[in-house]
Amino acid sequence: MLTITEEHITDSDSNGESSDVYRLVLGVVDRLANEEALEAYLVGGPVRDRLLGIPATDLDITVVGDAPRMAERLASQFGGRLTVHHRFGTATVDAAGVTIDLVTARRETYRSAGALPDVQPGDIEDDLARRDFTINAMAIPVAGHESDLVDLHGGKRDLAAGLVRVLHELSFRDDPTRMLRAVRYAARFEFDIEPETADLMASALASGAMSTLTGDRLRHELARILQEPDPAATLRRADEAGVLRAIHPSLSAAHLPATSAMPHGPLTWVAALAWPLSAAEAGSLTARLNAPSDWERVISDAVRVRRLSPQLSDPRTDAVRPSEVCGLLDGLAPDALRAAMMLAPTPAANRIDRYLGEWWTVAPRLRGDDVLALGVPAGPAVGEALRALRRARLDGVTRSRADEEEMARQWAEQPNNTAC
Ligand code: ATP
Repeated sequence: MLTITEEHITDSDSNGESSDVYRLVLGVVDRLANEEALEAYLVGGPVRDRLLGIPATDLDITVVGDAPRMAERLASQFGGRLTVHHRFGTATVDAAGVTIDLVTARRETYRSAGALPDVQPGDIEDDLARRDFTINAMAIPVAGHESDLVDLHGGKRDLAAGLVRVLHELSFRDDPTRMLRAVRYAARFEFDIEPETADLMASALASGAMSTLTGDRLRHELARILQEPDPAATLRRADEAGVLRAIHPSLSAAHLPATSAMPHGPLTWVAALAWPLSAAEAGSLTARLNAPSDWERVISDAVRVRRLSPQLSDPRTDAVRPSEVCGLLDGLAPDALRAAMMLAPTPAANRIDRYLGEWWTVAPRLRGDDVLALGVPAGPAVGEALRALRRARLDGVTRSRADEEEMARQWAEQPNNTAC
């Protein structure tokens, strides 16, 4: 068995040349392909990135033959984890942090707009012709060099010109997810969408192509935008192209910051997108995206935080006590609060920052048993006493265990004491 070490991976060159681990994998794929008299190619993203001088992340390989079988042999060589989709003729091998996607070369035809295509085995030309953009429709034989590039659609020319161009006129109608993909690549590489492609996109949008997509496909492609290095820039591109409002009429990027001070996860960006929405719009966005519970929660909590942010926005430092901030924010999704730190007025953002950084974890020094022993009656009063102790600690009213014991005694005598 061959072993991929961490050293192989961290050795990735910054000039986009294959790192040792990729050369190792490609060498083994080449040997296996030769043994079975098959062609195998590096395709799509890794070829594009290699030509751009960007280090590869994952390997996409097209096999003109049985890709799952090739993947099984590859996985047994490397001892990696194998996932096979026999129905689609695809497989993935994960070995030491490297993901190798293998697909059986295929021809795709679309019977109806927005639906998944019919698939038949094909050759490398068919496999490149089914792809989204010219810059993603190039291949290099696994043992080959740049001079062996298979570039039937002018991908290298478009890379040099900085253009995202579809392969044919019906591309966006066949698969409207490509409109999200187009803005994603345009933003990532600071490319333009080629003018005819932009026209095709505009007419696909005008004809309502986006509505042919299922919520799951739409959400999946939107999530990929939110995982880009600069999601705000990508969302702005999507907004300019009319893609955001085609996803849902209430979506816009106008409120997003030009730059984000820190990197955020995709769910924070989901919340940021939902920030200006009304509760009703948030509900219909959730339905459109068939949003799972974590998306649903950040969408509705983002709307909640925006609506209560005026209560956190008084610029005077002491105007809102920490316990009041906690009273407003406790229980809300942290991703929605992180979005609020980007989007709320500064005083509110600062208070949310303090909440996330420190206040939400503050607990009273005393426990339930302690307050019972100090005379608080069993039942709901215990929880109320502990919450009052937490508020007092947050606001600096109590500074020690002794202070809290004193307060609990008073609470036991006078549970409705407003000072508590
Ligand atoms: P990234 O750097 O974003 O991962 P990638 O090119 O590897 O880029 P994937 O989404 O992993 O992107 O897709 C792999 C390849 O499959 C693409 O390069 C493209 O050739 C093809 N592809 C993916 N999605 C589509 C699509 N919706 N329509 C046509 N081709 C697609």
